[in-house]
Amino acid sequence: MARIAVGGFHHETNCFVAERTDFAYFASHRDRPPLVRGKDVIPWLGETSFALSGFLRDMGGSHEIVPLLWTSGGAGGLVTADAYERIAGELVGRLSEAMPVDAVYLDLHGAMVSEPFEDGEGELLRRVRAVVGPDVPVAISLDYHANVTPVMVATTDGLVGYRTYPHVDRPETGQLAARALSLLLARGRPAGRALRKLPFLIPLNDQCTLVEPSKSVVARSAVAEGELVNLSYLAGFPPSDLYWCGPAVIAHAWSQPAADAAADALVREIALREPEFAVPMVSPEEGVREAMALARSASRPVVLADTQDNPGCGATADTTGVLEALVRLGAQGAMVGYLCDAEAAAAARQAGEGAEIALALGGRSGPEGVKPFDGTFRVTRLGSGKMRTTGQVSGGRDIDLGPMALLTIGGVGVAVTSKRMQALDQAPFRHLGVEPSAQKILALKSTCHFRAEFEPIAEKVIVVIAPGGYLADPAMYPYKRLRPGVRLRPLGPDSLAACVHAEHGFAMTRGLG
Ligand SMILES: [Zn+2]
Repeated sequence: MARIAVGGFHHETNCFVAERTDFAYFASHRDRPPLVRGKDVIPWLGETSFALSGFLRDMGGSHEIVPLLWTSGGAGGLVTADAYERIAGELVGRLSEAMPVDAVYLDLHGAMVSEPFEDGEGELLRRVRAVVGPDVPVAISLDYHANVTPVMVATTDGLVGYRTYPHVDRPETGQLAARALSLLLARGRPAGRALRKLPFLIPLNDQCTLVEPSKSVVARSAVAEGELVNLSYLAGFPPSDLYWCGPAVIAHAWSQPAADAAADALVREIALREPEFAVPMVSPEEGVREAMALARSASRPVVLADTQDNPGCGATADTTGVLEALVRLGAQGAMVGYLCDAEAAAAARQAGEGAEIALALGGRSGPEGVKPFDGTFRVTRLGSGKMRTTGQVSGGRDIDLGPMALLTIGGVGVAVTSKRMQALDQAPFRHLGVEPSAQKILALKSTCHFRAEFEPIAEKVIVVIAPGGYLADPAMYPYKRLRPGVRLRPLGPDSLAACVHAEHGFAMTRGLG
């Protein structure tokens, strides 16, 4: 029996939205648990759908588990210095108090950029390594959208990532981390480590593992095979502006030649498939017209993916481009979800079910050019926002989206929340009495996660580009810190050209001012 310290600190940072992610946001109970510490970690995380849940399932019975702290800030703007230092400080402080430990497992995202440190996880792991010393194995699990850095690879001994996008394998990833850590407990720290970055960024829409080439790339991942502790592919999160942004292949192995050979072979395979990363996208007008035409004869809903307002990428979930097109073009049987507007939800509650209210809905939190949608809505249904999720991506979680309302205008319904949630689960629709499969058109604020739950019930999926806080084409972002020579999309312009174009001096700064 080993004494294993466990914890988690998640954030997926979109550096190009104005808002910051503060400590209160990490601490609040939203579409995921609030920040939990010590003995409270296991009741919150033990039986649900995070990587730590899977890890505890396999290791909890046979080892002494020392829970440190677990928190997830979801996706959003830069993590404030205050939040970063309070959370990293407490996690590392609790680890210091727990010493000696035989091993450490951390459930991380891998795309955290904070005000003080652009490589949020690298800095955390550097501190963890400083506390545990040179002999204690440290294994981590990461989101598929991690931007892996050399520090993250050098400080760890096992690194596994989700192999699915939509992410339907979080607990299984924790179980793979448990398998890697069991091996490390038996054999000690491995000698070989390799990190290879691809020379291009991959837009999130093109990272989906339900289609090629990502489907066969993730199938090449390995844990505890031959000389390998792990061979992992992580696709990266383009809206994080840091030197090491972008997809990577990582190997930990019992020898350096084995790590190098495995990483080189896989990175070469992916590089050869660069032109294949390409999903078609259309304007809201085109998308809505096509959906309306299909809906006339379809027996299943046509899904419009409002990809650029996906709060899972740090967008605000309150833009109105798709809603405006649906209403203007006279769509019938259409449902929009989930639009975050706490003021509108409060106004609906005050007016009561059945009332008609004039509202300027959404469109309040940017980006530039996005306006509220003015109209008279019927309050069709109210909800508390408290429910349990049911989907494959994040099912079995007790969530609190704040007061909710179903607002209807013409043939279009809008499922309004008070807190942001990506449209990756059907529970919030059903909470408002809406059966998703019975709709003609479903407009979903999601990039890819919706596909797990909604593609099987859809006639067709159409990805639309309406203004939003996440840009589907990374070449549109004014990167300041990305290393030179990286193509900003497959076969696209490189990072140096983009920086000059955006009139930013190119500086390889490693901390944020
Ligand atoms: Zn992800």
